[in-house]
Amino acid sequence: MELISLLSCTQSEYVEKIGLFFGKGKKHAEKLYSEGFKKGILDPEADWIEPQARALVREMCQVTDLALPEISYTKEEGAVSKFLLKYADGLESESVCIPMKFGKTICVSSQVGCRMGCAFCETGRMGLIRHLSTSEIVSQVFVARHILKEELRNIVFMGMGEPFDNYEAVMQAICVLTCPTGLGFAPSKITVSTSGKVTEIDRFSQEADPALNLAISLNAPNDKIRSKLMPVNNEWDLVELRKSMERYLKHPRRQILIEYVLLGGINDSVESAEEVANYLQGLRVKINLIPYNAQSKGRLSPPTEETMQEFRSVLQKKGYQTLLRKTKGRSIMAACGQLGNVEMKKKLGAKSSLSLL
Ligand code: SF4
Repeated sequence: MELISLLSCTQSEYVEKIGLFFGKGKKHAEKLYSEGFKKGILDPEADWIEPQARALVREMCQVTDLALPEISYTKEEGAVSKFLLKYADGLESESVCIPMKFGKTICVSSQVGCRMGCAFCETGRMGLIRHLSTSEIVSQVFVARHILKEELRNIVFMGMGEPFDNYEAVMQAICVLTCPTGLGFAPSKITVSTSGKVTEIDRFSQEADPALNLAISLNAPNDKIRSKLMPVNNEWDLVELRKSMERYLKHPRRQILIEYVLLGGINDSVESAEEVANYLQGLRVKINLIPYNAQSKGRLSPPTEETMQEFRSVLQKKGYQTLLRKTKGRSIMAACGQLGNVEMKKKLGAKSSLSLL
């Protein structure tokens, strides 16, 4: 018999499934769901269950799955922490909790590996191994809150994987994460980041709650450089990407976070900054500049402090709100594009029978 996975359901979906299964008990199923998400356990002996309903609630617990993946690795650097979750098939995902002004932001993964192949990204080098299911995505937040006791305020889909390559599971995970009687995150506290998959940006524009946030990795001032850094640009170039941003921004409440990884000598010149400013002209955007975090020797290098400041200043002079992200968590490889860590690669190396697509 297939168990009902609590971490894949909103409360109403769980109650409906319990109702179909038992033909009764909806009130208790509602309470079991909210208690499960609040306390992190399914407790068939909880005080709130009337004696006459206890047997039914015990049965509900038996058909409900709240099994959590094992935490296989944790590492902390100051207030930044990283953890790996190991799933039933032995594969692992990586999540990072980063302190912000108010509470922490958890950076969650949507896939193990990624097929998008961005040149500056550790995860991209792994290739796609598999998508994560809704419950595997939600379990990262659940474990961080209930097992690791992290005070989470925001969720960003900026970990391993391209969220829009696993669209259905990610959108259902967002429904679960925002269920008011579950983990209860406001949609405005969640950001989904894409490398620029235009078909899915359009779908997100039409389907997503307007309060959810969208981030787009731009990373280049023109098609020539972007196609070299991000193969997605060969499918949807900057003209197509801009049109999709315009469609998304037709909703007056929406804004886009533009992410731009600065790579020394490649996309960090004053001329590049001017091209970026022209490209984004007229769009409601905020720009996040991220210095490349070099972990291994290669042809890519980080920008100098001076170049970063000059780049930022060009954008600011053109009126863009621009943040220069500090690479919090540099030594634990938790900064942008650095997930897909050394430990995981070693383990994957040992699993060479897995198909790296
Ligand atoms: S930057 Fe994002 S989309 Fe690109 S390869 Fe890395 S994980 Fe995938």
